[in-house]
Amino acid sequence: MKFGYHTFDLEFIHTFTVSSFSRNITPVVYTSIEHEGIIGYGEASLPPYLGENQQSVIEFYRKINLESFQFPFDISRIMQYVDGISANNNAAKAGIDLALHDLVGKLSNKQVSELYSLPQKEPLTSYTIGLDTIEKMQLKTEEAKALGFKILKIKIGTENDLQLLESILSLWHLPFSVDVNQGWKDKKYAYDLAQYLEEKNVLFIEQPFAIDKLSNSEWLTERSNVPIIADENIKRLTDLDTVKNVFDGINVKLMKTTGILEAYQLLKEAKAIGLKTVTGCMAESSLAVAAMSHLSSLADWVDLDGPFLMKNDPFNGLTLKNGNLCLSSSNGIGVEQRKT
Ligand code: MG
Repeated sequence: MKFGYHTFDLEFIHTFTVSSFSRNITPVVYTSIEHEGIIGYGEASLPPYLGENQQSVIEFYRKINLESFQFPFDISRIMQYVDGISANNNAAKAGIDLALHDLVGKLSNKQVSELYSLPQKEPLTSYTIGLDTIEKMQLKTEEAKALGFKILKIKIGTENDLQLLESILSLWHLPFSVDVNQGWKDKKYAYDLAQYLEEKNVLFIEQPFAIDKLSNSEWLTERSNVPIIADENIKRLTDLDTVKNVFDGINVKLMKTTGILEAYQLLKEAKAIGLKTVTGCMAESSLAVAAMSHLSSLADWVDLDGPFLMKNDPFNGLTLKNGNLCLSSSNGIGVEQRKT
């Protein structure tokens, strides 16, 4: 098997801001694995706060030797080898896992969902409104409506969350969730907002407190009727024990789980113990988001809007119809490189 990779910068349509930082681009590394003339494609997306960058991914890839594997079909054995190379580099590992799944799907005439015997769904996905001035957040809310989205995910975690929410909800009367991105510091403030959000029928509240403030998250989960979802607090299967009694559910993302294989295992395990599940994404192109879409049947809520926030997505094959995410019927992940 021949392994290749190259760097790329995904550009946001709007400057992307969450409770702790702002940025205009997301660096990615695209991968390819070739076997018998067929090529599988993968993506490692690298939001800076996760600690990986293009250089660390390339250094990791230089250590990879897939020549010793004759066939790509035993993905779990290959990923065991890849995982053993370092303790972290989760997005870099995902870049390999995705290319393998795409390749194996293409070689066996199956979509990724079929490789896991999962039904293909066309789920409603939420659309993220990043933090900004109230006027700009209202503008983006109108844009979400115009694009046909039926669910919003509103980034909060500021000192004036109530005002911010009221101004958006005056324009938006469809379902929504909120993502605090660890931004709440005070339990009373969090509790009052959770009460307000419950009245507004919020779907869930994501990552209310800092990752090292698990007791605060647990406190809020105990008192709130709204599901409290872990995001930054869970990356891999090994984190499930820590969060399972603290949160009502988890947000699973390919760049955290090292790819599709472990995302599938984590979603299955979480559902088996009664946790709610969200399938989410980083700022990713259609390639990685289509890959995750194949696991949509394991999600209570789908939060896969990455490509719709970008202006230079190099892949296509994923479309939005009335707010529903639709995959192409092609084998593998189901996307193709855009012709330039
Ligand atoms: Mg989040």
